[in-house]
Amino acid sequence: MNYVQECVYIGSADDAYDTLSLAKHGITHILSVEHRPLRKEVSDDYVYKYVHALDMDNVDLLSHFTECIEFIDSARQAGAVLVHCYFGQSRSATIVLAWLMHKMALTLDDALLLLMKHRPQIRPNPGFHEQLELFESMGNVIDPHNEQYKLYRLNTLARQIQAAQLSDARHVDAFSADPCGAQPSDKGDVLYKCKKCRRPLFKSTSRLSHKVGRGEVAFDWRSSLPSNGMSDQDDGSESVCEQSLFIEPVKWMGEDVLALEGKIACPKCHAKLGSFTWSGERCACGTWVTPAFHIGPNKVDECRIRAVQPLPSTPLPPHAPNTGIAQLTASCNSPQPHVAMKTDVQTRMVERPVAKVLPMVQSLCQDEATQAQ
Ligand SMILES: [Zn+2]
Ligand SMILES: [Zn+2]
Repeated sequence: MNYVQECVYIGSADDAYDTLSLAKHGITHILSVEHRPLRKEVSDDYVYKYVHALDMDNVDLLSHFTECIEFIDSARQAGAVLVHCYFGQSRSATIVLAWLMHKMALTLDDALLLLMKHRPQIRPNPGFHEQLELFESMGNVIDPHNEQYKLYRLNTLARQIQAAQLSDARHVDAFSADPCGAQPSDKGDVLYKCKKCRRPLFKSTSRLSHKVGRGEVAFDWRSSLPSNGMSDQDDGSESVCEQSLFIEPVKWMGEDVLALEGKIACPKCHAKLGSFTWSGERCACGTWVTPAFHIGPNKVDECRIRAVQPLPSTPLPPHAPNTGIAQLTASCNSPQPHVAMKTDVQTRMVERPVAKVLPMVQSLCQDEATQAQ
């Protein structure tokens, strides 16, 4: 095994069974990133953590970074830790690199240089290297709101579902939060409601944008990575597609959407809202979208939340013929009367049919973001 930093070592499966060496280095904790755990007669003598992982490009280690970093940190409080895989080259190196980047605020390149000084044979496979790049782009932490990370997780989930590896309803936990009953938060938030029964369905943050006609590239999380040639094509001249409404899966969709494909219906009134397919579909603009959770623009209404000055009357936008002012907390159990209702609240919702305003949403959001800066 090789020293990495104080109380942190990296090694192979042989090192993990070398009890003399473990004792010599004061190892109290072992983290196995392997296709099988250590034999119990060895692992029982240590504080033990096992992450099941094959050394393959498309294996997801990124989702385990946070728990592994925490395990290594807690081990250093109590003693010393060995992080190992079979050869001590790819899987364990990826975890140790993530820890070094997070702990010492290193770039991926600097972390690689540092670790190779101690263990020259390390070589994360290309898929793990890309996951480390995504980790770096999030500031060496997992940011669940990062759009590229969302795409990464959806791509991973799509692969599992297509390979029929998915037998676990817990995957629904990875879907975005149900906006029903949630308080509208930020100015500029956009809430999408069922056109028929007004049930809140998803927020604008669940929309997945793509560039017009980028083939299969646009919905691949790797397209934004610096090492990927795909990003060089992005000179800012391409426009964001405004023809379709694609979203990430939302919790109210439940286990129904763990099938390969099917319909999406309103959880309250069961009106058809759209369809989903994990293998992807082609948007009208030509871009292949994977996975595709496609909502019909004429099935939902867009409700914008805006800060309002407490003035006697504020003129409403001229392009909003069906505008209503409604109370903010949307009821999920009883239909909200679609009636204008003046209140003293500091914010208001402006409701418009999405089909008419879909092309505006992107620019409006960008305007608000610019103003906020
Ligand atoms: Zn409905
Ligand atoms: Zn499109």
